[in-house]
Amino acid sequence: MTVTPEQFRRVHTDVPGPRSRALLDRAGAALPAGLGSVLPVFVEAAGGGVVVDADGNSFIDLGSGIAVTTVGNAAPAVAERAAAQLRRFTHTCYLVNPYESYVEVCERLNALAPVRDARTALFNTGAEAVENAVKVARAATGRPAVVAFDHAYHGRTLLTMSLTAKNTPYKQGFGPFATEVYRAPMAYPYRWPSGADRCAEEATAALTELVDRRIGAGNVAAVVVEPIQGEGGFVVPAPGFLPSVARLCRERGIVLIADEVQSGIARTGAWFACEHEGIEPDLVTTAKGLGGGLPIAAVTGRAELMDAVPAGGLGGTFSGNPVACAAALGVFEEIETHDLLARARAIGDTMLTALRAIAEEHAVVGDVRGRGAMVAIELVGPGTTPAPELTARIARRCHRDGVLVLTAGTYGNVLRFLPPLSIPDALLAEALTVLRAAVAAETGRSGAFTAQRVP
Ligand SMILES: *Cc1c(COP(=O)(O)O)cnc(C)c1O
Repeated sequence: MTVTPEQFRRVHTDVPGPRSRALLDRAGAALPAGLGSVLPVFVEAAGGGVVVDADGNSFIDLGSGIAVTTVGNAAPAVAERAAAQLRRFTHTCYLVNPYESYVEVCERLNALAPVRDARTALFNTGAEAVENAVKVARAATGRPAVVAFDHAYHGRTLLTMSLTAKNTPYKQGFGPFATEVYRAPMAYPYRWPSGADRCAEEATAALTELVDRRIGAGNVAAVVVEPIQGEGGFVVPAPGFLPSVARLCRERGIVLIADEVQSGIARTGAWFACEHEGIEPDLVTTAKGLGGGLPIAAVTGRAELMDAVPAGGLGGTFSGNPVACAAALGVFEEIETHDLLARARAIGDTMLTALRAIAEEHAVVGDVRGRGAMVAIELVGPGTTPAPELTARIARRCHRDGVLVLTAGTYGNVLRFLPPLSIPDALLAEALTVLRAAVAAETGRSGAFTAQRVP
């Protein structure tokens, strides 16, 4: 039996409240400064659409632990399957003794991923999946170089930090970085210098130039792309860009890696965000939403590439842990029994409609974008100048008023919304009302930019 907290918003203390503050003092003495929290309230319960803290405050959850609890926190099928597996055995190491649930998770991903004749290997984290996808691409091609994009986020390990675009806080002080990483412009319609209409074509030209002239196509193992960028600010590439990237890779024997760690597993209203643009990557990475909160990650890819690594070349002590595999099977069950793909699309429609209305009222909302339950607003002014302080203030006001929102973006000026698909409609509507009031209050306070639309 899982316990879902009562579904309401309530803040009856300061945020953080006295019990959370006492725990923060303990954390401050025991943990390094490098571990920060977006909303430093200590959690006692979570589920449906709320997170409940140690002071009895109940926050509407628009973050899902960064796109992890897509099917809900402690979702019944996840919790029950994981608990049953916990009682049977907790670990063998797949590299020592295999077990059926590992194979079943791989079979499910092979059938669902937009990859023909697929094979899957399991890992623990998103970064580990991306690292292994690059290992597979290099082994299969015999080439060293990897191309990533502006605004990309791929993790915090040496290689994935090197693939990540933003310096602070992800890279500052952590060099030297991995070699043979090259960066191309992302087709970011809102910020493309010559306008959104020219974005896909010019970004494709820039990628082609980088690959063919500067690196040399024969040296490029892989292009790694998030079909919707996550930490970089929920950038949806200009229509047509991803198909152009896929074509460029195919023509040059370059492995196309779609990093779907954040966008995959029902988040955008499809199993994989690649489906929206009809592209078939060679390798796909998944992680965040895959385990319903338990750590599990995967690389799913064409057999001919995946099999290029000989036995012993892939894996890890904990990779594809049996409890996490049971949880992942619970995630598939939840998505199918509750038609959560449709639920993600409906949540997206509700959010986009409400956010566009807020953008109509407030010129500081320069862009509204996203797909399914992965949407964001970009805050600017004057013109398209990023407004990170305003963004932080709106986020803090939402937190104080009982709505958990996350920020994102290279310029720190994006508010992103990733509700669990288990959120009740009434709570989602309430959260959007709180957000609207927060934008109004903070924009009014800052004085400017309420009157006219950004051209
Ligand atoms: C979060 C994320 C990662 C890293 O995942 P971890 O589990 O934190 O290592 C990689 N790629 C993308 C697109 C992500 O959003």
